[in-house]
Amino acid sequence: MRSTLTTCALLCAAAAPAVFAEDATKKLPPVKALALQKAISKKALSTKAHELEDLAYSTPGRNRVMGSEGHNSTVAWITGYLDEMSDFYTYEVQPFIALYSDANGTATADGDELEAEAFEYSPSGDVEADIVAVDNLGCEASDYPDEVDGAIALISRGECEFGLKTALAGGAGAVAAIIYNNEQGLIGGGTLGPPPRPEGEYVPVVGVARRTGNQILNALEDGAVTGTVTTVSDIHNVTTYNVIAETICGDHDNVLTLGAHSDSVIDGPGLNDDGSGTIGILEAAIQLSSYSTNNAVRFCWWSGEEFGLLGSTHYVETLNDTAGALDKIKLYLNFDMLASPNYIFATFDGDGSTFNLTGPPGSAEVETFYRQWFKRRGLNITATAFDGRSDYQAFADNGIPCGGLFAGADETKTPRLFKKFGGEQGETLDPNYHSALDNYDNLNFDAWVPIEKALVASIAEYATSFDSLPSAKKVRARGIEDGKLMRRALEDRPFVRRGHAKVWKV
Ligand SMILES: [Zn+2]
Repeated sequence: MRSTLTTCALLCAAAAPAVFAEDATKKLPPVKALALQKAISKKALSTKAHELEDLAYSTPGRNRVMGSEGHNSTVAWITGYLDEMSDFYTYEVQPFIALYSDANGTATADGDELEAEAFEYSPSGDVEADIVAVDNLGCEASDYPDEVDGAIALISRGECEFGLKTALAGGAGAVAAIIYNNEQGLIGGGTLGPPPRPEGEYVPVVGVARRTGNQILNALEDGAVTGTVTTVSDIHNVTTYNVIAETICGDHDNVLTLGAHSDSVIDGPGLNDDGSGTIGILEAAIQLSSYSTNNAVRFCWWSGEEFGLLGSTHYVETLNDTAGALDKIKLYLNFDMLASPNYIFATFDGDGSTFNLTGPPGSAEVETFYRQWFKRRGLNITATAFDGRSDYQAFADNGIPCGGLFAGADETKTPRLFKKFGGEQGETLDPNYHSALDNYDNLNFDAWVPIEKALVASIAEYATSFDSLPSAKKVRARGIEDGKLMRRALEDRPFVRRGHAKVWKV
């Protein structure tokens, strides 16, 4: 760690001419979108992607999961680049303690081995009991019949997060739970989110394919089905690190903040998820260092995203402890998965027109900015929901306008998306999502390069001015409290709590 944001803020606020006469950044030309876009090269992204993959593959786990050697070296790799730009950025490495989990599980039904996978934060256990189907989607306590007591609860995926289903099963007295997918294939892992939960204690829980769930449901129609669930779970605290860098000058009371998560899942090196965002904002920071900005620009690399948005949530909580610190962030932009093989170009549905989940005031204007950027280049763009699956959530919860870009995760390429973006209709947007194959070879630069150019264009826009976003006064005049619309939507849709991975996927 070289210096802290506090130091920077003090230095800049002091505006001591003796110090700033020497300020290298003052001599730089003001940032311009076209110049930044021109500076983006596939080669620079590619080189860094190789470096990131090497960091993962040089460790026994071949991953960059929170708390691992691969993640710690990712943090050092980021700060290594920041050290070379010490004339332009100060940075802080923010440590925090987080609950880590590595769970593995097996299950049987009527003696047949099922293809199953455990969820992170599932407790360890080895149980044998009758399997009892839960009503509806298992998102309400009333969905759990009395027979679940002492049994293995069989629950469909959908509507609410895995953690809620598992806690409700525990609350109803189940000894374990099996969650079956509501679309093709295995669920592909996921996290319950760290315990505890008020609805009940987690029980050992595994995920199975929809087909498997349906087979058990059919067998239940003919009579009792006995099952087993066995989970081995390693849950312990680790110390892990966010990295927060900020331009030395620019107005530190009006800060553009960008974020990507630097951690991967356990199962792979995480080159698209979210090596692409990690590199995306790093490369943007490097190119921005040739220019001056009116507003300060803050780049954040979050840890623990894959376990439930842990790093970004922790950071926002720490800012909340300092009066006014959050108010200085005028906009948060999130970049998580920019190089998906079967890509789409998507921006967050800030105005709520597509998914009826409106972002805090200002988010609609950011959506418009990105839509116009793609449109002007003859490129299609679609909306992605503010569904709580990435690190913007803690910012949105505090009424900060949010936006960002996304090339797709485990969603399917529908005929509508195929028409807009080509690729493989009916296939997953990132078939390697959360797997060992999320590696360099499967990055799609045809997606990444244009998204990266749009990313830097948005930096040029908002590092220069926030005038296109509604002022607090305007927001008040419209009678909208900050973040109220999105919060209302969140309350209506209980699955949208904090967390990523497969947690909140419906
Ligand atoms: Zn991600």
